[in-house]
Amino acid sequence: MAELVGPLMRDALASLGIDAVTPADTGGDRSESCDLIIVGGGPAGLAAGLYAARMNLKTVLVDGRPIGGQLLNTELIEDYPGFESISGGDLASKMGDHARKFGLDIREFEPVEAVEVGPGGTKVARLVSGRELHAPALIFAAGGRPRKLDVPGEAEFAGRGVSYCAVCDGAFFQGQELAVVGGGDAALEEADFLTRYASRVTVIHRRGQLRAQPILQARARANPSIDFILGARVREIHGNGVVSGVRLERNHEERDLAVSGVFIFVGFLPNSLLLPAQVERDAAGYVLTGRDLQTSVEGLWAVGDVRAQLTRQVATAVGDGTTAAVAVSQYLEGLRDRRRDGALSSARERASARSET
Ligand code: NAP
Repeated sequence: MAELVGPLMRDALASLGIDAVTPADTGGDRSESCDLIIVGGGPAGLAAGLYAARMNLKTVLVDGRPIGGQLLNTELIEDYPGFESISGGDLASKMGDHARKFGLDIREFEPVEAVEVGPGGTKVARLVSGRELHAPALIFAAGGRPRKLDVPGEAEFAGRGVSYCAVCDGAFFQGQELAVVGGGDAALEEADFLTRYASRVTVIHRRGQLRAQPILQARARANPSIDFILGARVREIHGNGVVSGVRLERNHEERDLAVSGVFIFVGFLPNSLLLPAQVERDAAGYVLTGRDLQTSVEGLWAVGDVRAQLTRQVATAVGDGTTAAVAVSQYLEGLRDRRRDGALSSARERASARSET
């Protein structure tokens, strides 16, 4: 029986006179095969797609929404090298156009139901539409999302004073007063960072005790521009077109705090649930990877915000995508060599068995 492989492998084996088929050759039109599947069209996925397509890998990128990922939630980007100031939407379009130019097959509004590992290690992306993509390699770039406070005004003022990224938006608040919500590492680290720009930062935390590491607490407490309001909950974010303050509740009493911006750091939720159970993750659900960003499952990479790492920036996501695409290319080459050697040695064994009879 012919071996089941991706199209790149099938063509390479065919040139050696070895029969192989792709799932699409056998499975009808609900199943399609390629060399590489990319799940997620944020900067990490688009960079991976650009590199992979440029290296002539038949690559399909799927995203349940329009491409851009977190870029689409970011008003202005001022820290991506080469772009002094660009809107998140414009940068997403440019990245998409650039990758398409090299032949990346981008499919928007194509949500993925699950990523699975099939027979022989084939990676399968099961789509909500009922279709399936098969490939020997898959890059998972599904990102994550900041946990929301879920209070009135949060959605209304998103991008107009409400932010989930200090590095992205802090510089817009030069000399102004800000609130940071949360008591974990991210809240204290980002509060400290925001004092580069803001005249005063008030950290608002729901409990009497901070959760952050002692070293981050000590640094924030030593910063004269940071105040703390502990044991308080934000009940509402208000303003008129842009944020002008927050309504707090503490000890059953409500009060207003006047601020021009509210930075919310109450946790981040990586979109790692679509992955098979055998993919190793940390306690918070971030995917653990090796140096080449491959996960604990061979042929499956994780890049960008879904991966356990120090920072979640556009530039690092692009770097992740690049690293993974190069690693995938090397992996496919190795896989092709292994399969060719295996096929040749079994052909030799068959030939010698025939000559002996
Ligand atoms: P986190 O550690 O889960 O902290 C989330 C904070 O938000 C907690 O203080 C929590 O309060 C609060 N919170 C959660 N839901 C809330 C709600 N509905 N209303 C008000 N407050 C709410 O999240 P994180 O700070 O984003 O950090 C995530 C992970 O990244 C952690 O593992 C962290 O160590 C890591 N990280 C590390 C660094 C670093 O090492 N420098 C920097 C950033 C992040 P409670 O305390 O009451 O639960």
